[in-house]
Amino acid sequence: MFELIQLAIEGSKKFISLGEGEVLLARKDSEGLIQFPDTAYFLPLIFALWGVEIKRNKDLSRAMHEINKLWTEAESSPLTLKKGLKAGLAALAAAEILSALDYEKKKEPLPNWVGFIPDSTFRALGVQLVDGSISGLALIIGQARDDAAASTIARSLQERNILTFLAGKESGGFTKQLEKADVKMGLDTHLIPLSNKIYTPVYFFNLMVRVALTFGGQKGGTFDKIFSYCREKIPAFILSLGKLNAEDSAFVLGGLNFGTPIISEGDIPEVKGQGFTLYGDDIIVEKDITRLVPRALEARGIKVKITKVPIPVAYSGAFAGERIRKEEMSVEFGGGRSRAVELLIKKEMDEIEDGKIIMKTKEIDELVEGKAYPLGILVEVAGRKMQKDFEPIIERQLHTFYNEALGIWHISSRDTIWMRISKKAKEASFKIKDLAEILLCRIHGEYDAIVDKVQITILGDKEEIDELISRARLIYLERDERLAGMKDEDVDVFYSCLLCQSFAPDHVCIITPERPGLCGAFSWLDGKASYEINPVGGNEPVKKGKTIDEKAGQWEEVNRYVKEKSHGRVEKLNLYSLMENPLTSCGCFEAVVAVLPETNGVMVVDREHSGMTPCGMPFSTLAGSVGGGQQTPGFMGIGRKYVTSPKFMSNEGGLLRVVWLPKQLKEFLKESLIKRAEAVGQPDFFEMIADETVGVTVEKIIPFLKKKGHPAFKLPPLL
Ligand code: SF4
Ligand code: ZN
Repeated sequence: MFELIQLAIEGSKKFISLGEGEVLLARKDSEGLIQFPDTAYFLPLIFALWGVEIKRNKDLSRAMHEINKLWTEAESSPLTLKKGLKAGLAALAAAEILSALDYEKKKEPLPNWVGFIPDSTFRALGVQLVDGSISGLALIIGQARDDAAASTIARSLQERNILTFLAGKESGGFTKQLEKADVKMGLDTHLIPLSNKIYTPVYFFNLMVRVALTFGGQKGGTFDKIFSYCREKIPAFILSLGKLNAEDSAFVLGGLNFGTPIISEGDIPEVKGQGFTLYGDDIIVEKDITRLVPRALEARGIKVKITKVPIPVAYSGAFAGERIRKEEMSVEFGGGRSRAVELLIKKEMDEIEDGKIIMKTKEIDELVEGKAYPLGILVEVAGRKMQKDFEPIIERQLHTFYNEALGIWHISSRDTIWMRISKKAKEASFKIKDLAEILLCRIHGEYDAIVDKVQITILGDKEEIDELISRARLIYLERDERLAGMKDEDVDVFYSCLLCQSFAPDHVCIITPERPGLCGAFSWLDGKASYEINPVGGNEPVKKGKTIDEKAGQWEEVNRYVKEKSHGRVEKLNLYSLMENPLTSCGCFEAVVAVLPETNGVMVVDREHSGMTPCGMPFSTLAGSVGGGQQTPGFMGIGRKYVTSPKFMSNEGGLLRVVWLPKQLKEFLKESLIKRAEAVGQPDFFEMIADETVGVTVEKIIPFLKKKGHPAFKLPPLL
């Protein structure tokens, strides 16, 4: 053990002297800006540790001072593991300075490396972590014994839906090995090549602290709390491969501060039950590489359900984002190149046969490579607890089910689907029939509680497909009307969503027919279906009870529920208000509404928009001030589509308050914006909303709004 600590000290010393040197150099340009792209948390790790907000080079000296203090503490303490932890932490903080300076010098990230993870990326990951499509986070330090071993470890992580961050050495290390083994890397395959620089692991830890700051509502400078949040809430671990050098040793021990267990396949001493990690496996050794990942999951208490789908290609959530380019595809269906449709409908129990696949199409070997063919997929399900309302919910999942197969790519839905099967999948003898196998297996797996039977028909004949499309269109119409027609007034129960409580412990989403969850992934019907499927899952029915304030959207039972589930943090909730007792935000919201007092209106910005906004902050900074399950009147995280709901801040005048939207979001919502504007008697309203082409300051947009006669100015004062 002493050896590891000694090494860590040595590594740490190196980072600190490098850091000091660079800080000295940077002093020449003391006003020079220093920042990572798209984050509200400055140099996040340093901000988390000491609350220091580094914006310019001159701020670096303060951070360096803190680092040195920590280092001196480490140096003067006895040779125990704690010494190593302190030294490691100092190394991480110094490494953060080095990487940020490289960002300023445009030396980072290098092509093909991801570098610093922007806030917008990890916010989107938040939902995946809570719904289980990502089961944990891993950092790989070092390199495997050979390329094949690297590929085995990567597959094993992918199969278990672990989002893995790869720290390259200057030589490339593990990433080089994967490249040679022909394993695809990138955000979309859950294998993220961070950077080739020695300081790389810092990107993993400055991501972790931002989860604590954002979802956990922690404040910068409270590192004890941040560490215990990470230790308890973030399912992360470190895989340490091969022999560790001094730098790696510093990072590995530094990582232990965050409660991340270390699983090594090399020769380091085990440490157990010292209280650094939640389950006591602080540092463990596993020499069998096929056992490495399962052992890591045990150590961090991560449980995953591996779905074994009976098809000849690999299957995992890690492949859901894979793209298949034209040159890589064997055949395609739909996407405007041919007619294609998918439809899922409820049948009676005696009308279908479970597990039956009816193939009315040619198989893949009979199709000409590189061409587009028509395709129709009809999924019929039956079950005693199946409801017609659940059809669209299961149908929407088909997309994910297909995409998780390696070599299958699917986008869009209904009669606009577009699908590709890769050459590699065909070579691995994947058949069109396997599409049905995937659906049979996944629908049974996920919807066991409501679906007893599944039967699938695959059509290839153009006329039969056209017939299915006409039939499907009537069904879509009926579904849409039913959903669009549903009002909050029509129901007695709303649904809660508590999924995000695993990261934002006090946050409660209340989902109503006219207000989706703020991540955009849950509608009232989803809540209802998910409760039906799993009554002890994340969604519960919430009775409205006695009306307290109809206009603001406040009910007695809803208040009671929210108070209980937010652990007393939220006493009153106005579902239709932005300014008084609004809904809280966790961190994974799609967009933020923010009041712009000078316009008597509000702006909405979504996380796709990285530019400046009229409230003086880009999305990331703005978002940084609304998370963590607190009520923040005047600011609120929302699902994008909620903007055009009749219940969107209706207590304060609703849609007519919206004065600014990013152009892209405006286009995305165009149809429903126009519809809603017409409904409130302002048919020209769409044209009155400013966007970044008009301006990104209040001064710039006010003349535009005045010229257009924007209605916000005539509404009662917001503040
Ligand atoms: Fe989280 Fe709310 Fe989405 Fe549920 S609905 S996953 S609580 S943001
Ligand atoms: Zn959330």
